Amino acid sequence: MTKITLSGVNKSFGANFPVIRGVDLTIDDGEFCVFLGPSGCGKSTLLRMVAGLETAYTGQIQIGDRVVDKVEPADREVAMVFQNYALYPHMTVYDNMAFGLRQAKTAKDEIERRVKEAARILQIEPLLDRMPKALSGGQRQRVAIGRAIVRQPKVFLFDEPLSNLDAALRVHMRSEIATLHRNFPAASMIYVTHDQTEAMALADKIVLLHAGKDMLKHGSIAQVGKPLDLYHRPRNLFVAGFLGSPT
Ligand code: ADP
Ligand code: MG
Repeated sequence: MTKITLSGVNKSFGANFPVIRGVDLTIDDGEFCVFLGPSGCGKSTLLRMVAGLETAYTGQIQIGDRVVDKVEPADREVAMVFQNYALYPHMTVYDNMAFGLRQAKTAKDEIERRVKEAARILQIEPLLDRMPKALSGGQRQRVAIGRAIVRQPKVFLFDEPLSNLDAALRVHMRSEIATLHRNFPAASMIYVTHDQTEAMALADKIVLLHAGKDMLKHGSIAQVGKPLDLYHRPRNLFVAGFLGSPT
């Protein structure tokens, strides 16, 4: 079971700066959920809370049937892919992908099996001996995704993984992410983006977060639904305005 449930989640940075307000949300087993909204609305913060990288909040987060509020990031069976790839510059592609498994004391032949399998899925087998600086942006992002795959997580978390790529590559990698989802049907995915086209293309469910002038709503859920529901039946002016605006 990899259903994720957030109940009454609030977070502030400092005493007077709420960034996440009253979030109640369920992400079903194997669902592809996109956190969407303008810059600063709290998408990354909410994702990092699921990953265990932000603590100090009120409310409750469950992954599967486990309450994880006090569970360390490494024990949550989630893997996160960052916008800036976060590769280790002094390690080969192979070692970057193996690093987390070595930390977890996985057997050497099992590490090799998983790294090679992930490299095959991502078509980066010829790159395993290279250093990150010898890779293109798209290749680096594949390695970052590979590093998540080898951990066989129950939940994949993506924070704007494509926003450093040029437009053509972004469209290509978008379909690779959709393929990744099909390859791991049991894993749930949460994908953060400010790009509504990306959200429409990938999501089973979109969670649109409020931002803007109305500070009392900032960081709360504006609408949750299937992409076409939001598009055709926006619940309020913020949703209609955001989806109607050019990316
Ligand atoms: P998004 O990912 O949607 O662009 P973030 O989750 O990064 O938004 O940030 C939400 C709000 O919280 C922003 O106003 C941001 O400036 C603020 N914020 C994020 N991280 C911190 C932090 N570590 N300390 C203080 N404020 C932060
Ligand atoms: Mg962000």
